[in-house]
Amino acid sequence: MSAQISRATLVGIVADAAAAPDREVCGLLFGDARRIDSAAPAGNVAADPARHFEIDPAALFAAIRAERGGGPRIAGHYHSHPSGSTEPSARDAAAACQPGRLWLIVAAGEAALWREVPGGAVQGAFEPVPLVVEDGFGGCTPQIQSPQGPPLSTSAQRKG
Ligand SMILES: [Zn+2]
Repeated sequence: MSAQISRATLVGIVADAAAAPDREVCGLLFGDARRIDSAAPAGNVAADPARHFEIDPAALFAAIRAERGGGPRIAGHYHSHPSGSTEPSARDAAAACQPGRLWLIVAAGEAALWREVPGGAVQGAFEPVPLVVEDGFGGCTPQIQSPQGPPLSTSAQRKG
């Protein structure tokens, strides 16, 4: 079973990871098992953020509260491996405790999606999920209108 993500959302996550080459970035994914609608960065509060990640609990709890209030559903989360691969690490497997959650892992400008499955083929805790990148849905990209419209013509000349 594959999952979709919008190109804008994926590009944003990969760019955030690339901008932090010395630490793991992380955040939440919203949507459902088949489609990631959006993502939100969160602080990494791990003691050693260069090698591990731990999503800021305040951000996590706020998202859970919002979800319970009818807000976007939490589909999973993402994090980066600054010096590793897009495969889950043994430590990721040890932290896996919510079957069905999606894990998006970014490394070296690439991203791979995994689903938590007890006894999964990868690290005994994950299965790969084909990631389908779609254009034109998902995150809202507001079009900022320039306040400077075309210059008003004030040069009309009257004769007579
Ligand atoms: Zn990891």
